[in-house]
Order: sequence, then structure tokens, then C-alpha cells
Amino acid sequence: MSSVGGDDPITVWSIPMRTRFRGLTVREGVLLRGRGPSGAVGWGEWSPFLEYDAAVAAPWLRCAEEAAAGDWPDPVRDRVPVNVTVPAVDAERAHAIALDGGCRTAKVKVAEPGQTLADDQARLEAVRDALGPAGRIRVDANGGWDVDTAVAAIRVLDRAAAGLEYVEQPCASVEELARVRRTVDVPIAADESIRRAADPYRVRDLEAADVAVLKVQPLGGVRACLRIAEDIGLPVVVSSALETSVGIAAGVALAAALPELPYACGLATVQLLTADVVTEPLLPVDGALPVRVPVVDESALDRLAATPDRVAHWAARLAEVRAAGARLRQDDRS
Ligand SMILES: [Mg+2]
Repeated sequence: MSSVGGDDPITVWSIPMRTRFRGLTVREGVLLRGRGPSGAVGWGEWSPFLEYDAAVAAPWLRCAEEAAAGDWPDPVRDRVPVNVTVPAVDAERAHAIALDGGCRTAKVKVAEPGQTLADDQARLEAVRDALGPAGRIRVDANGGWDVDTAVAAIRVLDRAAAGLEYVEQPCASVEELARVRRTVDVPIAADESIRRAADPYRVRDLEAADVAVLKVQPLGGVRACLRIAEDIGLPVVVSSALETSVGIAAGVALAAALPELPYACGLATVQLLTADVVTEPLLPVDGALPVRVPVVDESALDRLAATPDRVAHWAARLAEVRAAGARLRQDDRS
């Protein structure tokens, strides 16, 4: 049995984002080192967003501890197809991003506040032109439409793209997703609707989606996600939570272990950070990520080390989440 050293000094990294994302300009997190009887085992990333309380951050820690313990299921494939993400930019820029991404699948952001459906249409036509007829195009509305707007927009955008693979989170609530899904032919994917362990079951029970977007940190790790995938019986797209390559490796481990992987995954995101903590970052080659555990670069950890006050913040946060976890386990026994 390996353990994750509770008394070791913790490794906290701080890396600027290449562009502002989710309101963030800097991403921070902790690397945990797992230890077995014969020495170090693996690394795990714990990088819950700063506003999350201990209860929300707890599954993120279980994911990191599983990774640090080297406790992942065996892969059934050696590469994981990934998508390029095209932000809500103009058509010319979208064309270049889709082309440069080197992926056969593009995820195109739509329903951006302040933009029109015509903007989305032009972006999709440009991406189709870049990928050619064999490319796959999905859109992500990040919950930006109401039901009627979604139904009308999806029909227009499906034509503009010459066929959409699916629409991710057209509306904010699970009930709305279910209504849109009953009205349009394009498959629906649930992303923001799946944030905690119970959410995928609700999506399934309301028949709200055809595809489930799963992220390993919020859902408690690779094995927890495999169980969810089996229970809900929906195809899964593994997506990132803006991690370094250490965190992305956990998503890759899930994608590599799923019995079926019909869609490209949203794991090509380390480029969104200006630096990485490993010697060879998990970047796509020919539209896929290799299934391998990246090697942590100790000199990068020195360069990217957070300031002492941020280390203290994360140490206190880690202690709080561990204490909350210990309390929960005690409650279970009593
Ligand atoms: Mg999404």
C-alpha cells in the first residue's frame, strides 16, 4: 500500500495562462508525491479552482491521491484522439486555429455574449473549410441559450457546419437540455451539468444528453469515472480542468481505459498554460495524445514555485480538505 506523504513539504506551482480563461490569468495547484515501501510511486495534481470549498475540493484530492499512488487501471489503447478548441473569434482566425490544431475534430465556441448567430455561422463555415469534409465539428454553447433559441440556433449551425457531431451544453439546466434533445436531431452533450458525482445519474435519468463530458478531478478520479461511465451507459468525452500535464495524464488514463471511445477528448489544453511541470508536455501528435505518464521536471518545479504566502494558502487548504475527509470517514463508521 502506498501513501501520499502528509508531512512532506508540499509542491505548489503557479503558472500564468496564455490568455484569460474562466476569468483566470494564473493557474495554481499542488503536486502530490506518492510513496510506497520501495520509494516514490507517482505524482498527482490537485488543482481545484480557488473559490471551491472543502466539500467540492475533496473529490479533486481523491483524484490526485489515486494518481500519486500509481493506482490507475490498465489502458486498452495507446493514443487518445483530442479536439482543437476554437474560441469565439472571427472567421479568419477560426480557420487558422482549426488548421494549426492538427486535429481531425474541432470544438467551436458559440453563443458568446455580445455576438450574433451570424458570427457563429461564419465561424463554423470557416472551420469546416479548414478541416475538410472528413473533419468532425462540435459546438459548445456553455449554457448560453434558452430552449427556443437553442432549437433555432442548432438548426442553423448544423447547416453552417455541414453536420454537427454534437452540441455541448446548449442551455444551463438539465431540464432544458432534455427539452432541446427531444426537439432537435443533433446529439446533445452535458458538460456544466456534470460537476459532482451525482450529476451524471440525473442527466441519464432525465434523458437529457447523448454524450457525457467527464472530468477526472471534480468526479473523484479515474476509477470513479470508469464506474460512472459504466453506470450511465452514455458515450464519454473526457475533458480537462485546465491542468498541467500531470493532471492531464489522469484524464488520459481514463480515456485510455474506457471500453469505448467514440469521440475525441477535450484534453489538448496544456497549451493554454505558458509553462508545464514535466519534461515532455502532453501535446497532441497527429490529433492524439500519447498514453504515457509524464516525467516531472524538478528544475521546472523550482522555476514555477508559488510564493511562500501561496504555498501557505494551499497547505492550509489541503489540511482543511483532509480534515473534512477524515470527519466524513468517521461519520461513516459511527
Ligand atoms: Mg464545455
